[in-house]
Amino acid sequence: MIDLRSDTVTRPTPEMRQAAFDVEVGDDVYGEDESVLKLEETAAQMLGKEAALFVTSGTQGNQIAALTHCNRGDEVLLEASAHLFLYEGASMSALAGVQPRTIEGVRGAMNPQDVRAAIRPDDIHFPETGLICLENTHNKAGGAIVPLENMQAIYDIAREHNIPVHLDGARLFNAVVASGISVKEYAAQADTVQFCLSKGLGAPVGSMITGSADFIRSARKWRKRLGGGLRQVGVIAEPGYVALTQMVDRLAEDHDNARLLAELIEQMAGLRVEGEVDTNIVLVNVADLGLTAEQFLEEVKKEGVLAVPFGPHTVRFVTHFDVSRQDIIDTVDRIMNVSRTCV
Ligand SMILES: *Cc1c(COP(=O)(O)O)cnc(C)c1O
Repeated sequence: MIDLRSDTVTRPTPEMRQAAFDVEVGDDVYGEDESVLKLEETAAQMLGKEAALFVTSGTQGNQIAALTHCNRGDEVLLEASAHLFLYEGASMSALAGVQPRTIEGVRGAMNPQDVRAAIRPDDIHFPETGLICLENTHNKAGGAIVPLENMQAIYDIAREHNIPVHLDGARLFNAVVASGISVKEYAAQADTVQFCLSKGLGAPVGSMITGSADFIRSARKWRKRLGGGLRQVGVIAEPGYVALTQMVDRLAEDHDNARLLAELIEQMAGLRVEGEVDTNIVLVNVADLGLTAEQFLEEVKKEGVLAVPFGPHTVRFVTHFDVSRQDIIDTVDRIMNVSRTCV
């Protein structure tokens, strides 16, 4: 089976397994797990922030950000197809008691003037705009890189109005490697940044939130309230450290493989690549095969390829380090077997 459903399906490398085996461990709720402290310090330093917090997942990191930045009844501005809006079970409403307000973007980038226009004036009738969320790379937009200038423009507006900005950077390092823009430059366009160790970087578990020391102090308390205070968690922090320090540069291979997949699919009758391939995600429209996304996926699964539906006729393929160039070529052959019977 060639599994292109997500870059979360990667399994820990031998180095990660060895690091988990060798680790000393201590109780992290007491601040005594040296591996977690090392990971948090490294993450903070890499992103140019004062502090960082190791959390169980990207969703938990984003929710802790909403809980820490906002008061109940606040409004949060975010792009209409943001992960925080579509795929987190409305948890910012359920947990933080805030109301999301979406702004339609282009390839994941909101127009800064739309953001400015959506900021609430001071009026007893209105919620307060408590947070602006950005996402880079943008998952639903097919791994699109949101331009740095776009983030800068939104952050300038946010600061004018004293509104914090949170960056959902689950795949921020894909943007870094593909654009050549440093992670510090991206991170400087937001007060807080969440990124996943468990996606393209290949760690089995975990995300980081970074921000000011004050923010992280409050975030640590929210993490505890959510039941996210873990104990001898060095066993997962060490693989996370390997992910962060050894696995960033190789993301370029995933991007090459995604581009190759897109190029080969473009040459096939009945299949169309949607938009550009900036990073490790390829969106493919299967409507011309006369199939829904679900039907297409059922057929390619029989051939030994897994992907996920991303719209009525859109399928998402994600490349990652468990997928080789040869796997991409095999994937295309297998898809060909399906498309041949349709067109
Ligand atoms: C995967 C993802 C998340 C959530 O991460 P989990 O670890 O799966 O909870 C958040 N934001 C974006 C953009 C993602 O792609």
